[in-house]
Amino acid sequence: MKTLLPTSTAGSLPKPSWLAEPEQLWSPWKLNGNALREGKQDALRIALKEQQQAGIDIVSDGEQTRQHFVTTFIEHLNGVDFSNRKTVTIRNRYEASVPSVVGPVSRPKSVFVEDARFLRQQTHLPIKWALPGPMTMIDTLYDDHYKSREKLAWEFAILLNQEAKELEAAGVDIIQFDEPAFNVFFDDVNDWGIAALERAIEGLKCETVVHICYGYGIKANTDWKKTLGSEWRQYEEIFPKLQQSAIDIISLECHNSHVPMELMELVRGKKVMVGAIDVASNTIETPEQVADTLRKALQYVDADKLYPCTNCGMAPLSREVATAKLRALAAGAELVRRELSA
Ligand SMILES: [Zn+2]
Repeated sequence: MKTLLPTSTAGSLPKPSWLAEPEQLWSPWKLNGNALREGKQDALRIALKEQQQAGIDIVSDGEQTRQHFVTTFIEHLNGVDFSNRKTVTIRNRYEASVPSVVGPVSRPKSVFVEDARFLRQQTHLPIKWALPGPMTMIDTLYDDHYKSREKLAWEFAILLNQEAKELEAAGVDIIQFDEPAFNVFFDDVNDWGIAALERAIEGLKCETVVHICYGYGIKANTDWKKTLGSEWRQYEEIFPKLQQSAIDIISLECHNSHVPMELMELVRGKKVMVGAIDVASNTIETPEQVADTLRKALQYVDADKLYPCTNCGMAPLSREVATAKLRALAAGAELVRRELSA
């Protein structure tokens, strides 16, 4: 990466209202068949254009072709029965009706590779692609077959590795694994979660990211955050082991969060995607606020390893707010870039 402080987003961007109901998660598609396929591609083109116009350096598909960051991948696997649903508690936080694992899991064909190829054709900028992490996948399912979280995570890691290798071959520069579950199940993360993630990136030559956040700005998450106290030290439990892992980049939330910035010292040496945009608020950050977060992060992250980013995905926001936040991110990074080169 040649640009200093290259900007990117954690993943999702809002979808156009003609494609899916805006400002909600798991929003159902408004089109079907060929119209849906074309609609998704058009939305991807728009999401890319908006990132480019805002000045984002590492672009993504804005997750325009998927309904949900975990479920859409799982829908393409064998061994999971979506008609056999059970109610489970996701991330020890909220109840949801989820599909069941009923047999050995496998990936009969690639899930996102066509979409990644399409994105690759549209731009010469570096592209980042997000996949769910193994631990977050198992936390979104009822397991009626393996009866072991660790075993199922390992099986998913193998399937994710197959997908990641195909994404790399399609020209993806950075592959990101979303692991919000890493902020909840610390013992499992240290016992086998990070090992499963390393299995998912085995043999990859492109860069790899793990994104660990406190979730979208939905009610279940904001209620949970109120119970965490004035200092959020969850990262402290897992950073020492992540620092030792084969993952290249750690993506975390900072702005408007109660995460003490000094915890980043625990992953010194890794590249860090620093969340300088709050995705749980409609208030648009000023470039100066973004710059302020980045300057603080520079105390713990070397300038050539600092990647300004959003705290999480922006799918639940309005397009207007999300676009303005993209511009603020790029402008704030530019302020600090100038200071560093002065
Ligand atoms: Zn997130």
